[in-house]
Amino acid sequence: MENVVIIGTGCAGLTAAIYTARANLKPLVLTGTMPGGLLTTTSIVENFPGFPEGVDGYELMTRMQKQAEKFGARVRFATVESVDFKDGVTELSVDGEPVKARTLIVASGAGHKHLHVPGEIELEKKGVTYCATCDGALPMFRNQPVVVVGGGDSACEEASYLTRFASKVYLIHRRDTLRASKIMADRTLANPKIQPVWDSVVTEITDVAQDKVTGVKLKNLKTGEESSLPCTGVFAAIGHVPNTALFQGKLDLHENGYFKPTGFVGTKVPGVFVAGDCVDSVYRQAITASGMGCAAAIEAERFLAALEG
Ligand code: NAP
Repeated sequence: MENVVIIGTGCAGLTAAIYTARANLKPLVLTGTMPGGLLTTTSIVENFPGFPEGVDGYELMTRMQKQAEKFGARVRFATVESVDFKDGVTELSVDGEPVKARTLIVASGAGHKHLHVPGEIELEKKGVTYCATCDGALPMFRNQPVVVVGGGDSACEEASYLTRFASKVYLIHRRDTLRASKIMADRTLANPKIQPVWDSVVTEITDVAQDKVTGVKLKNLKTGEESSLPCTGVFAAIGHVPNTALFQGKLDLHENGYFKPTGFVGTKVPGVFVAGDCVDSVYRQAITASGMGCAAAIEAERFLAALEG
């Protein structure tokens, strides 16, 4: 029987791993399909304390994992297929194998939200992508016009990053002001290679018949006007959906799918805690996820101590 199983290796999961490992609980940490979480797809992280020059997202997560392993965390590249809570024990199926745990910390993060327009699914990886850092340097985007959809920090970050490769970056936003933080918004709008297209949504991505992205169809939400914009890439950065499907009917969820914690990181099941982007739809920062991971670890530690009496 495991003392602590942690689902997820983003900031929340790995911080929980560092704390529970230092408490000598030898946590089993399950990566899921995206080791390191969404931050590994970011370029430079400028707001994580302690890195005045910024730090590469992948490097930050690699360092966190090393720190957790140094204290005895066991990180396993594995996916959880099912979870059950029975008589004070969490029973998981992990890549077909049963795993039992006294405490569980769910830090399963969030995935990219989709546009849900014609052509999006058919042209994924053929010009449609959700990660500029992963795909921006591909030959199909070099010296070509590309489109970024969204108005938040992610969209601004993606657009800025893509100016290294693309001839022009169109930032398609459904309103006429960016949601992004002021520093990111100012930097984005000052970049001569980025052209905002305000009050507009993508209604279709073309061209499925050619099996590659050749452009987008747009609709101006204020005037109703429809137009086309040639491009070879569509980078959707319109937010996230929490990875909580496994827990539907088992733990409390909000209507938007995020966990509804009891207190900060608790759940209705004793010994089961939740942390990070699968809970927090408001702040969604690396540092807030880490903070929740820390809290969940301390709660798990206290729960185990109380079990031992
Ligand atoms: P976000 O802040 O939720 O922004 C999503 C953007 O997509 C919004 O502008 C939204 O429009 C738009 N949008 C949502 N659904 C849409 C749809 N169906 N069609 C068209 N547009 C749609 O998400 P995010 O940018 O991924 O940021 C998430 C969190 O991570 C934020 O807290 C952000 O500060 C943080 N973050 C921080 C950094 C950094 O500090 N370096 C980098 C990336 C992310 P509306 O504005 O009209 O709602």
